Amino acid sequence: MGAAVRHVVIVGGGSAGWLVAGLIAADHRGGQPDGLQVTLLESPDIGPIGVGEGTWPTMRDSLRRIGVSETELVRRCDAAFKQGSRFVGWVDGGPQDVYHHPFVLPQGYTEANLAAAWLQRHAQLPFAELASFQPHLCLQGKAPKQASTPEFAAVSNYGYHFDAGKFGQLLQHHCTTRLGVRHVLDHMEGIRSHDNGDIAALHTRAHGELAGDLFIDCTGLASLLLGGHYGVPLLPQRQVLFNDRALAVQVPYAQPDGPIASQTLATAQAGGWVWDIGLPTRRGVGHVYSSAHTSDDEAEQALRRYIQASGGPAEIATPRRLRFEPGYRQTFWHRNCVAVGLSAGFVEPLEASALALVELSAVAISEQMPATRAAMDIVARRFNEAFTGRWERVIDFLKLHYALSRRRDSAYWRDHVQPGSMPGRLQDALTLWRHRPPSRHDLPRVDEPFPSASWQYVLFGMGFRPEPGAYGAGRDDTDAAEAAFREAATLTRRMLPALPSHRELIDHIHRHGLHRI
Ligand SMILES: Cc1cc2nc3c(=O)[nH]c(=O)nc-3n(C[C@H](O)[C@H](O)[C@H](O)COP(=O)(O)OP(=O)(O)OC[C@H]3O[C@@H](n4cnc5c(N)ncnc54)[C@H](O)[C@@H]3O)c2cc1C
Repeated sequence: MGAAVRHVVIVGGGSAGWLVAGLIAADHRGGQPDGLQVTLLESPDIGPIGVGEGTWPTMRDSLRRIGVSETELVRRCDAAFKQGSRFVGWVDGGPQDVYHHPFVLPQGYTEANLAAAWLQRHAQLPFAELASFQPHLCLQGKAPKQASTPEFAAVSNYGYHFDAGKFGQLLQHHCTTRLGVRHVLDHMEGIRSHDNGDIAALHTRAHGELAGDLFIDCTGLASLLLGGHYGVPLLPQRQVLFNDRALAVQVPYAQPDGPIASQTLATAQAGGWVWDIGLPTRRGVGHVYSSAHTSDDEAEQALRRYIQASGGPAEIATPRRLRFEPGYRQTFWHRNCVAVGLSAGFVEPLEASALALVELSAVAISEQMPATRAAMDIVARRFNEAFTGRWERVIDFLKLHYALSRRRDSAYWRDHVQPGSMPGRLQDALTLWRHRPPSRHDLPRVDEPFPSASWQYVLFGMGFRPEPGAYGAGRDDTDAAEAAFREAATLTRRMLPALPSHRELIDHIHRHGLHRI
């Protein structure tokens, strides 16, 4: 049988540590006599990374599950709503080069072959703008819900943009006051092992030994337990996704009560791309780039040019410099230690998948929490297999944004289309998609990170076109597809006047809050 798992020790107090702590404690009666004991150890010397401002709609489920109020999130984390991403300059760098990746599925997506009807009759229109109302809401600065819509409910599917530092503080407060998580502010200085190689306890500087049954490594890029102690290597992904540096800065609005973007704007640059995230009180702007293709100074100049061109001030604070090695661990769960967050891996923030993988990991650990040490190795094997697949899929999806680009204006874009930089999995998929659109057959796993609709939005947004006549063959549901396009247009017309502006909704929440259900 082996010993019962009673005490979970999480090392690290960044977004990953607190999300894992919250989800496990909420599911397992944290701190109750009949529940799991959950302890989070956080170094007072090392702050959280402090970036990571864009989330997916999954965050709504996570917060609801943990019991955090959406009103509190908006009020305390400078949070706003995110309805997807807008890509500028990725296809050919020309003046019309913009496409959307919304969070809402295309209208009628499961009922008709929309791609075929789009190509046959509407190919001059962008796919996302024909098949979904959401890009139009974003372009008009609309909120994804009304003031009367309850917490976490959506008229138009959404995640959040928020201040990552404040988000960690909100979760910490909630986990320690409501969910029975014990917070130990101390520095881990070493590890004591059992004879079999399991971790027995952590040495802390001031609190002595911290013993536990399961240890969750949320120590950020340092990966002190899984990478440092166990030596589980990082599988580098630099050959596929070149970006390894970022500059991040906070930019004030020219008009404090001006519109707030409800999409992450991702604007291609010569050696990377710039993210632009609208919070209620400021923008978070950053340049993520490849050090093999762009110097730090060139990257900073490009960032400054972007900020000025987008209406920001001529003078900005000195940007923070971040470095990372793109990659993920060979395994994530080893013996009685599992890594979540940056300690498990990180590849550039395009499509903001990092926190979504944290949420998926935390839910997987919590739902499969091994009752005993003997059960742990089975859970670990399954976890490793599932998350290796998820990382591979995330990498393929991000590479899709580069692999189809027709930009050839710099070595960065030329190198991105070299066959050697392309995962074979993605190459295979692109071959199949010349004859049929991405579908669930390409994505057979439970909890795929990106649904097939996301692959379609990016594939078609990036200008991919199938073999002539290919998508229409074998299925005649043009009428159903046309009805879906009309439905998207009708919804757009109805929603635009009915929804408040994004800023109006945020102001309403600050003053009155949202209903809780
Ligand atoms: C440029 C950039 C942009 C990003 N943008 C996004 C985005 O838009 N969306 C998204 O989902 N993700 C994004 N991410 C990723 C996101 O920031 C992280 O996934 C998220 O913040 C989780 O970080 P973490 O908690 O794993 O690590 P960290 O925040 O680095 O936390 C590490 C913790 O470990 C603790 N620690 C370290 N050593 C010790 C020790 N010896 N003893 C005790 N404690 C210790 C520290 O005190 C700290 O609390 C981005 C990342 C980068 C680099």
